[in-house]
Amino acid sequence: MNKLKEKIISDGKVFEGDVLKVDSFLNHQIDIELLKWIGEEFRRRFDGFKIDKILTIEASGIAIASSVALCFGVPLLFAKKSEGVNVTGNKFFSKVYSFTHKCWNTIYVSAEYLSKGEKVLIVDDFLASGSAIEGLVDLVSQADAEVAGIGICIEKSFQDGGMKIRTRGYKLESLAIIESMDNRTQEITFSEPN
Ligand code: 5GP
Repeated sequence: MNKLKEKIISDGKVFEGDVLKVDSFLNHQIDIELLKWIGEEFRRRFDGFKIDKILTIEASGIAIASSVALCFGVPLLFAKKSEGVNVTGNKFFSKVYSFTHKCWNTIYVSAEYLSKGEKVLIVDDFLASGSAIEGLVDLVSQADAEVAGIGICIEKSFQDGGMKIRTRGYKLESLAIIESMDNRTQEITFSEPN
């Protein structure tokens, strides 16, 4: 079992509504050794790929993506969530449905930081229904840049995001794929044991 799966088993908390809380090591307090391993593991899984930039979405993707960017030696760009005021200038926008907050958010990046032809590795903490990743893919395509791959820390395969993304033909690597989780028993099962 890899380090992330071990940590999910020991410290993850399953909540109602198919939500896994990883606040003690990934989403609030951050286990830096684990973060380092995550960066190195994505570097290994995308070895041989040309990657010019790492793209994620604020807020919880940023720490993960920074570790990945450090391992690839490339810049990290994060999509911002628009507050709806004073968002001016040349930007790419997309809409994302928030799984955790149950609302639509507009996200954007400055056109200045995402250029035509760039090879982008998209990274995020969770993959549930796929809206966050689809929004990020949309920003990349508006810039005429290219999605080199998608790296997810925790995919919940009982939700349909992974299927949607794989059907579109992207190389998707998830470090932990949760097949089922139960908020009453706190039992979590992964799709592959290793
Ligand atoms: P999706 O857009 O794929 O439906 O959901 C992915 C986004 O929702 C991620 O950026 C993540 O922040 C959040 N998310 C989805 N599922 C979970 C979960 O089980 N736990 C936590 N903490 N965040 C989640």
